[in-house]
Amino acid sequence: MAQSFAGPPYDLDDLIPELSVFRRRTTLLFPKSGSPEVRESSLGGPMLWPADEPWPSCEQQGHWAWPNEKSPAGTVSMVPVVQLFARDVPAFSFPEGMDVLQLVWCPLIHPQDQACAALPKLYWRGEAEVLTTGLLRDIPSPQEGEYEEEFMPNPCAVSPTLVVEYPNWDLPQELRRTLQPRIEELEERFGMEYTRLACALQNKVGGYPAWNQPPDWPVCERGHRMEHLLSVTPEEDLDMVMGDLGGIYLFLCRQCPELPYAHRYDC
Ligand SMILES: [Zn+2]
Ligand SMILES: [Zn+2]
Repeated sequence: MAQSFAGPPYDLDDLIPELSVFRRRTTLLFPKSGSPEVRESSLGGPMLWPADEPWPSCEQQGHWAWPNEKSPAGTVSMVPVVQLFARDVPAFSFPEGMDVLQLVWCPLIHPQDQACAALPKLYWRGEAEVLTTGLLRDIPSPQEGEYEEEFMPNPCAVSPTLVVEYPNWDLPQELRRTLQPRIEELEERFGMEYTRLACALQNKVGGYPAWNQPPDWPVCERGHRMEHLLSVTPEEDLDMVMGDLGGIYLFLCRQCPELPYAHRYDC
């Protein structure tokens, strides 16, 4: 279970000036069990979904849930995971004309995928436009046997908190070697590994992924390296265990107009 902390406990670049070029602003979400409303940012809460758009379902063949490992017949309704309104995460820049970010996923095990886990899908919206269209009222939920408990987030309100992050494993190797003695001093002084001082393994938007595994940045079809968009991690109030997963990371390419995205599992 990931331990929440208030983010990097100090500005690392005050202590190691060479890190300042890598500073990135991150918003930590700090999910707490609650009853978020449809027009509030949330994890696992109700979503602002336009009435004229069907709720997404997963069509992958062969996805399954414990304990019977049987694949449900037909499609499976996805579940709300993250909804963020631009007003709650001012440090994060939304694509033009958009002010709502939504992440849903299929809460089953997907054996075709790298880590056998939930399958995420991302949406951008304009709040005013959705409100004009009207809201989808009857959002279906997956039935018994159509979900894996560990990928069903408990509804949580969020407390967005701005921090600064630095790369952990993404720090250029040569620089890492040069800084190593000073990094070790910091680790001793604060009793925390640099990998956790630099960036938080928490639910967050922006910043750096807190890789547990060697970094694995996705590249879009046109060859652009994507940026880290969101981390979804198994914090306590969310009531998700996520097996051995440290988190699911979402990445975005802003250089392509259709805003392609990709995900990675971190074990
Ligand atoms: Zn699925
Ligand atoms: Zn691209």
